[in-house]
Amino acid sequence: MPDVSPSPLHGLDPATESMAHEILEYVLDRIRMSPPPLDGPLTAAELSAATGTMITGTGLGYERAFELFRDVLAPACISSDHPRYLAFVPTAPSEAATLFDLVVSASSIYGDWWLEGAGAIHAENETLRWMAGLAGLPDGAGGVFVSGGTSGNLAALTTARETWRRHHGRDRPAAIACAPSAHSSIRLAAMVLDVPIVPVDPDARGRLTETALRAAVERSATEGLDVFAVVGTGGATNTGIVDDLAGAARVATELGAWFHVDAAYGGAALVSTVGRPLFAGIESADSFVVDPHKWLFAPFDCCALVYRNPALAGAALTQHAEYLETLDATAEWNPSDFAIHMTRRVRGLPLWFSLAAHGVEAYDRAVSRGIELAHEAARMIADTSTLELILEPELSVVLFRRLGWNADDYQAWSDRALANGLALVVPTVHDGETIFRLCFVNPTTTVRDIESILGAM
Ligand SMILES: *Cc1c(COP(=O)(O)O)cnc(C)c1O
Repeated sequence: MPDVSPSPLHGLDPATESMAHEILEYVLDRIRMSPPPLDGPLTAAELSAATGTMITGTGLGYERAFELFRDVLAPACISSDHPRYLAFVPTAPSEAATLFDLVVSASSIYGDWWLEGAGAIHAENETLRWMAGLAGLPDGAGGVFVSGGTSGNLAALTTARETWRRHHGRDRPAAIACAPSAHSSIRLAAMVLDVPIVPVDPDARGRLTETALRAAVERSATEGLDVFAVVGTGGATNTGIVDDLAGAARVATELGAWFHVDAAYGGAALVSTVGRPLFAGIESADSFVVDPHKWLFAPFDCCALVYRNPALAGAALTQHAEYLETLDATAEWNPSDFAIHMTRRVRGLPLWFSLAAHGVEAYDRAVSRGIELAHEAARMIADTSTLELILEPELSVVLFRRLGWNADDYQAWSDRALANGLALVVPTVHDGETIFRLCFVNPTTTVRDIESILGAM
């Protein structure tokens, strides 16, 4: 048989080569844009009408397919790194991290097993050890980068439950204790694990405290329900408030329960000299998660899941199969053993590259900027007669009300602000009241940006 390319999909012919240049140019243009377009969603019907059928028998060709992305699909997606995107939790990847994501894509590195990914896993592990060190965990701590806090919380709580069952048997019911401000993914993990939640009464700022946790655990014990895990939140997503982690750790230790800290949003502040003191007690955690795709300037999707004793996670979560046995025998460190997944992208590398290149001090400054912006916004709100600050910010979330507005007014303002390209700021609910919430993680947001948003209210 003649040795022609057996695949119409592979090989760098001239058309593919010119598409490569076009894509690299597009990427450069996108990261040059300051700010990027805010944009906004269309309905599925509007999108269908604009694109026509995209998957066809003979293909559209590079040019048309790319045009569809550039001109129709991308503008129907909000740029979450826009400096006036202050809703939910924004993102603000560094140029270094974004560009390195392309390198990861082009390198086909299988991130599950040391055999295949040793070099990349080594860099991920140093990054995870750095984070463990920020939290004050001992040398043996380690883990894996997973897709997000949801997945990290589930893996950590599954490990917690398996560890508890090894000591107490499989039949004794046991629960997760947390405050109502714990993230929805904790309730989802409890549902997947089919375990109850012991609710802890929050204090006036919504925090889990030692006294309330102790009371909740005692109440639950009298009903015959043990607690196998205590979850502390290191920056509640809606308020930015950090639980009493030291108090939670003391109660968990007394109970022989696992102490997990969900710091998916706030944990970035461990690197900030201003933010770090809020996390006193995290050094006692059995596990914690931090999402670098939120406030550590990494692209989606990236969550650091760290265990004090990774062997417990390995014992709970390693998959065993005939075709994998050779890998277990020779492994130095197999990331797939520490969460609920197998195939994985080495998604920790964009963070590693940016952190290695820029150094820790640059990260301290960039994260601390988010905290400063929140305090700046709080001052501006306090100085505006039509606005009222609801909580003094701890991390980088600011909650406030617009006097005289009802829920519909908030929503209408939010819709208008997006439609005219001003900002993405959405209402939230706090203590049953619809209010506004700003979340700062993007260090390129300016005081002028905040003024223009507050001024338009
Ligand atoms: C965002 C967040 C999560 C969920 O993380 P994903 O990366 O979106 O899965 C969990 N916990 C907290 C506190 C969060 O802020």
